[in-house]
Amino acid sequence: MGITLKYIEGNDFIMEVRVEKNPNPKKPLTGEELSKVSFGTVFTDHMLLIDYTKGKGWHDARIVPYGPLALDPATCCLHYGQLIFEGLKAYKAPDGRVVMFRPDQNMSRMNESCERMCIAKIDEKATLEAVAKLVRTDADWVPDAPGTSLYVRPFIIGSEVFLGVHPSRSFIFAAILSPVGAYFKDGLKPVKIYVEDKYVRAVRGGTGFAKCAGNYAASLKSQEEAEAAGYSQVLWLDGVERRYIEEVGGMNIFFVIDGTVVTPELNGSILPGVTRKSVMELVRSWDMPMSERKISIQELADAHKAGKASEAFCTGTAAVISPIGELKWKDLVMTFNEGRIGPVAARLYDEITGIQTCAKPDKFGWVYEVK
Ligand SMILES: *Cc1c(COP(=O)(O)O)cnc(C)c1O
Repeated sequence: MGITLKYIEGNDFIMEVRVEKNPNPKKPLTGEELSKVSFGTVFTDHMLLIDYTKGKGWHDARIVPYGPLALDPATCCLHYGQLIFEGLKAYKAPDGRVVMFRPDQNMSRMNESCERMCIAKIDEKATLEAVAKLVRTDADWVPDAPGTSLYVRPFIIGSEVFLGVHPSRSFIFAAILSPVGAYFKDGLKPVKIYVEDKYVRAVRGGTGFAKCAGNYAASLKSQEEAEAAGYSQVLWLDGVERRYIEEVGGMNIFFVIDGTVVTPELNGSILPGVTRKSVMELVRSWDMPMSERKISIQELADAHKAGKASEAFCTGTAAVISPIGELKWKDLVMTFNEGRIGPVAARLYDEITGIQTCAKPDKFGWVYEVK
């Protein structure tokens, strides 16, 4: 196999993707079966692989039967963590079409992560087309029961075999698919979160804005302690002053303060969520005040005390909108909207999930048709 990026009409590259069908396909899970499996534990029949070698570029794109990757034990990503990923979803529209939500955003964010982690950049359009082809190949796996979707996980690993610290000269791009059930099985349920004051996840100048595996490894200890204490996630403060609110586990955070929707501004240590961006664009389109700025935990506590903090919610691909019922900071327990989902969070949830599933008009051109 040679270089598979081919120049076609206009300025677009398209990648030739070889398909090797799985000789033993499984039966896709029904909505009923999906409600019983945990997130990310069931995978479809195929995966996408693309190789990169220095001098040759990305090549040999192929859709092959899902299965283990054979890696030499000295493969560099296993030792130094040169590894990034993305997460997005494909949905079944009422008319049977299969669509993805703003996948171009994930591809460009992937390149931002590549840049930070010294990983070879991808051709965003061509790679997206290859991912779409994988989803088309396993289109039978896109569930249609309410709240269900097909989770798409593209990732890139440094694949050179050596035990020295320098950027890998070869990479593997892979994408796998996992059908997922409704995130909240009994409707949107507000979560309990505490403010982390012992550990930090990221600092400015670090890798917080990149979707790299190491950020998650650094957060596991805190997550484990939070769960043991009866909380579902932690809220990270900035790693230097421990004053400013950053984000939650794998989700961004928003508040409604005095009628204004507020979210922490991007500063290099916050992951720029696609859901976060979509929420801001929707709020602005509704002519509701929207403010992207620094917000200290003390300011939030003061606003809460004054009765001005009416809602708090998280945003991310997995849950879309996750209302926060209770937020604990040291000895202070803040509850929002009496522990129920607030009107802004509810409206955002309905609008975004409506657009994602094609039940509502796509005014912004966010929906990408796969099939
Ligand atoms: C992926 C991720 C998010 C959410 O991003 P979306 O694009 O909205 O899914 C937020 N924070 C972190 C740390 C993440 O890894």
